[in-house]
Amino acid sequence: MARGTFAGGVHVDDGKDMSRDRSIQTVFPENGEMVFPLSQHIGKPSIPVVHVGDYVRTGQLIARADTEMSANLHASVSGRVTAIEERPTAGGEKEMSIVIENDGVFLEVFYPENRQMEQLNRYTVLSGIRNAGIVGMGGAGMPTYYKLSQADETDTEVIIANCVECEPYLTSDYRRILENPWKIINGLMVLLTIFPRAKGFIAVSRDNPEGFVLLRDLLRDEPRIFVKKVSSKFPVGSERQLIYALTGRSMNARMLPYDIGCLVCNTDTLVAINQAVIMNEPLITRIVTVTGDAIEKPCNFRVRIGMSYLDLLEQAGGFRKDLTVNDVLILDGGPMTGRVITDLNVPVTKLTSAIVVMRKQKMTIQPTTPCMRCGRCIQVCPNALVPLTLFRDAQKDNETAFVRHNGLECNNCGCCSYTCPSKLQLSPAIFSMKAKIMKKPEMAGDYTRRFMRK
Ligand code: SF4
Ligand code: SF4
Repeated sequence: MARGTFAGGVHVDDGKDMSRDRSIQTVFPENGEMVFPLSQHIGKPSIPVVHVGDYVRTGQLIARADTEMSANLHASVSGRVTAIEERPTAGGEKEMSIVIENDGVFLEVFYPENRQMEQLNRYTVLSGIRNAGIVGMGGAGMPTYYKLSQADETDTEVIIANCVECEPYLTSDYRRILENPWKIINGLMVLLTIFPRAKGFIAVSRDNPEGFVLLRDLLRDEPRIFVKKVSSKFPVGSERQLIYALTGRSMNARMLPYDIGCLVCNTDTLVAINQAVIMNEPLITRIVTVTGDAIEKPCNFRVRIGMSYLDLLEQAGGFRKDLTVNDVLILDGGPMTGRVITDLNVPVTKLTSAIVVMRKQKMTIQPTTPCMRCGRCIQVCPNALVPLTLFRDAQKDNETAFVRHNGLECNNCGCCSYTCPSKLQLSPAIFSMKAKIMKKPEMAGDYTRRFMRK
């Protein structure tokens, strides 16, 4: 039975106070380079349709989806294409990218007239989403067209708007709910038009009572959409945990939500769906939280894809006056699932949710001691794994044992590391081992289903 919660998980210091009262501010990039990696999604990289020297307008298609498991890419500024070459990304790897010299004019392509909700059908919705290059913007990066086209029209019973934002420090969903609730609701309504038997759930954390009340009041007369409170435990926003909390249905990492009659879309993805299908606009902006105790003015920004992280940090006032780059730790994403980055000359992509900058002294990794077999990591694992065993498998580089102990079920939530009194870095070791095995289809088997890349 669905109780709004799940087994395991942890309550963390959410750090959201720093930016939750900061309204979304639209930032425009300075003149200069904008970088568009061709892989901003899982699946095949998109294929450039522009050449060096071409002039492009804001909203123009610059790279097309290669297959269904790929996504279109559009220019977020106007200007000239100056290069198509490998550039560093926040993931630490170099990716083939289109580079545009922003002329600061923001000359737009022509967008056709808005559609009405009553005019929608399966074709207009799916083609609108595909053309706009929408992907799962909560971090998963699955092309939304692919996800929706796989879901059965009649078997899909629940569409979940994931507005939980359980990752500490992130406040973009919180602001979206308060500032643009209809954009989220309309995005969900668009999806409900193509799944006639489905009902919509908007999931909101118990820690966001104002967002819950606002949505509930707006939806009082809407028979197909229900606003649901879920636990504030981390990682309730993770797909498996959220579906379980709301419906009581379970799935493993080899399955996709549509296998159990569900679809999950995060807040920004739903807003992008509304923009694409109703307003015919491609995905060229997103909300990014820039926050942390080392940032001068924590903010929520509406950002053009392709801007550099450095530009964003400057827009947030940079580091606090008493700090230099040597005193801080910069995270791409939140403290639980984000990764440390050192190069700030990397572009915002469709998957950038936050830049969190912390004082190093607060984040310093403490010395580790041997495992004391307390079992806390097992208690908090939301996927019923035995992290200490997986950690040992990873240390011994024993791939067979790691797979046998269900290590591929790990969703890298970080709860085990967070709770371990011996300060063992369980989650990073398990994540690296899993990433290594996922590159070997003969070992990973069905687990590659959602990570097909090339
Ligand atoms: S939480 Fe840490 S110390 Fe406790 S059993 Fe797990 S690995 Fe060992
Ligand atoms: S083993 Fe994986 S899923 Fe389990 S707590 Fe650790 S990181 Fe999370």
